[in-house]
Amino acid sequence: MNPTILTYMIDQDKHVDEATVVAVSDEHGRTAVFLDKTIFYPQGGGQAWDTGTITAQSGCFSVEEVRFADGIVHHFGTFTQGTFAAGDVVRCAVDPDRRFLNSRLHSAGHLLDEAVKNLGFGWTPTKGIHYPDNAAVEYAGSLEDAEAVKAKLQAEIDRLIANGCAVCATLVDAADLPRCADFVPDNLPVGKPVRVVKMGREKGTPCGGTHVKDIAEIGLLTLRYVKAKKGNIKVAYALKESGGAA
Ligand SMILES: [Zn+2]
Repeated sequence: MNPTILTYMIDQDKHVDEATVVAVSDEHGRTAVFLDKTIFYPQGGGQAWDTGTITAQSGCFSVEEVRFADGIVHHFGTFTQGTFAAGDVVRCAVDPDRRFLNSRLHSAGHLLDEAVKNLGFGWTPTKGIHYPDNAAVEYAGSLEDAEAVKAKLQAEIDRLIANGCAVCATLVDAADLPRCADFVPDNLPVGKPVRVVKMGREKGTPCGGTHVKDIAEIGLLTLRYVKAKKGNIKVAYALKESGGAA
């Protein structure tokens, strides 16, 4: 099977698109639909997958989970009607509300990095999770007064969101990364284009997620706690209406 074209990486605003069915198969008792290209975001980078529907004259498929493996996107779900055959042209539709919430949660992680950088803490991001009920970024660095740090971070985040700033995502050559990114991770995903996300600065972060257009769209971001965790620093956050306890 050819690699799936990742339309969401090129045009994340496309919430409805046509695609062609490559195959429908049973994977350990679950139905998986494979397409030539997809607007559905697969689980990755700490961001949850998209849900939605894939429809054609011959059937209707409810997309419940989306995964990426070896260049191929697996759309798992249930046929609510009929089925598809290879070659069928289908209409894909992503649930826009779920996508927007996930984009806000994910972009909030980048914003936290910007605040940490602006405050000169000297921390390096090591891990991010951006789920509605569990969002946090972990950093390598040192932490003394957690409450004072939390207050400074919250104030800087509030300032950045109030000011707003365009978020820009650009596809780049992997060889160009040292020039346009703060750091080059040694575990870049295999089989995906390389993209750099910038928030108002000359350099950005390599990232394959989906983002808000402007920092202001993140809305109210509340830090839940800042604490030392196994030699790292964990900063947990929640967004208004994201479901996480603020
Ligand atoms: Zn990102």
